[in-house]
Amino acid sequence: KYEKRTASSCTKMGDIEVIAENFIAGTFVPCKRSMESYDPSTGKVWAQIPDSSKLEVDAAVAAAKRAFSGWSKLSLQQRAQHLLKVADLLESRLDAFAEAESRDQGKPLWLAKSMDIPRAVLNLRHFAHAVPHHLNTSSNQPEAGVVNYTLREPVGVAGLISPWNLPLYLLTFKLAPALICGNTVVAKPSELTSVTAYMFCKLLQETDFPPGVINVVFGLGKSAGEALVNHPDVSLVSFTGSTATGKHIAQATAPMFKKLSLEMGGKNAAVVFSDCDVEACINTLKRASFINSGQVCLCTSRIFVQRPIYEEFVHSFVDAAKEIKVGPAASEGVFMGALNSKPHLEKVRRYIKYAVEDGGKIECGEGVDILHVNEEYQNGYYMRPTIITGLKDGSRCMQDEIFGPVTCVVPFDTEEEVTDRANNTAYGLCASVWTKNIGTAHRMAHSLKVGTVWTNCWLVRDLDMPFGGVKGSGLGREGTQDSMEFYTEAKTICTKI
Ligand code: NAD
Repeated sequence: KYEKRTASSCTKMGDIEVIAENFIAGTFVPCKRSMESYDPSTGKVWAQIPDSSKLEVDAAVAAAKRAFSGWSKLSLQQRAQHLLKVADLLESRLDAFAEAESRDQGKPLWLAKSMDIPRAVLNLRHFAHAVPHHLNTSSNQPEAGVVNYTLREPVGVAGLISPWNLPLYLLTFKLAPALICGNTVVAKPSELTSVTAYMFCKLLQETDFPPGVINVVFGLGKSAGEALVNHPDVSLVSFTGSTATGKHIAQATAPMFKKLSLEMGGKNAAVVFSDCDVEACINTLKRASFINSGQVCLCTSRIFVQRPIYEEFVHSFVDAAKEIKVGPAASEGVFMGALNSKPHLEKVRRYIKYAVEDGGKIECGEGVDILHVNEEYQNGYYMRPTIITGLKDGSRCMQDEIFGPVTCVVPFDTEEEVTDRANNTAYGLCASVWTKNIGTAHRMAHSLKVGTVWTNCWLVRDLDMPFGGVKGSGLGREGTQDSMEFYTEAKTICTKI
């Protein structure tokens, strides 16, 4: 039926290896229209996915609504058992999922194996174990002759919308807390990276997951995505993606008073003081700027370096970037794969032009260093890690989210000055501060207007900690306690005794 095809069995279909279908009420359902999905390493079509419309979304929401009563009445332990079974099965298929994720997204295989899929497994396990400890509270008021207690009730049908940069990782970060709290869900993964979500649906069938609790519709944001967020029976929307789409969803859902969580773009700063461990800092900022080809919302894209070490920093950082091997996702030793799509590569390249127009100097990367890829990969969406200096804080590359392997380095003099300059963007997702002075580290951490500050490290995550952004980067937080609050409604019950 909807099996994984091999290239050889697909001669009529060209290079298509995977044909995905919507997953509704526990079964795979054909969609009237379909669309193509590309392998970023080669630029060739490799998957066919449904191009769902309101019709398919309506069917998925109806299935989730029907399943709600049964799922929400299961005990927490029963719901947790279901999630844990899926986690175990996913872990046992780690290699297959990592290969598909790297093929579909463009990221190196080692990254999908060491980060994306293990984190998806952890998401399922973490929320299954942790949320139950946070669900109910009670209080005594003997002077009033009452006891109070709070119920945390599931909200209903949750609409989950996720982006293409960390496909299964971010989908499961929404799915696991929504489900353990007793909601049923309709998920709409990015049209650019749908394959691992489709494979995940197949796992669900293997584990006897109750039908209708998880429904997945594939397709475009403006059709399937809009139909989902606008559906009157979807009481909660959890969105991760660009700030422009988040704004649109906030406007669309506001009159319906839906619960809304928005995890959006970033323009994250690193602030490097001259007393820091420069070598450790450069090693981490190389990763922070270029991992997943700069396509992580938390990636660093503005580096402020204190003037006494500015020249030395730029020199060593450029040397480090030049060492990075760029190439096809499955190749040995590759640190950076292809960018996710052709339009995205073109957008990122446009910013290099803007940088030059705005007076910047391209120290390495796009247009400076030669990119070598074998003939078979000539049409892949590759770009070398690019470092820009000499830009003003108000320039396009210092203000807009580029979301590619591009980072700007600028000098600063004082702590007060750099605080204002680092905060001078429309975004506020995260920042890192590099110094051996604990006072400086904490003062900076307190005054940076972002959701997370890392000092002398980057992207160390504890799922119990609140995660999210301020300003154009987000609305709400995710993490054990925050996700539990978001995916439930509190009800206080006051009883006379
Ligand atoms: P995007 O906004 O284009 O798409 C994200 C998702 O929204 C996709 O599934 C898309 O189909 C859907 N969508 C698009 N228009 C829609 C609409 N009108 N209604 C409903 N759904 C719609 O974002 P993207 O390009 O896929 O992802 C990159 C962005 O995601 C970057 O800005 C990045 O910073 C951000 N991001 C943020 C976080 C975070 O945690 N803050 C994490 C990862 C990515």
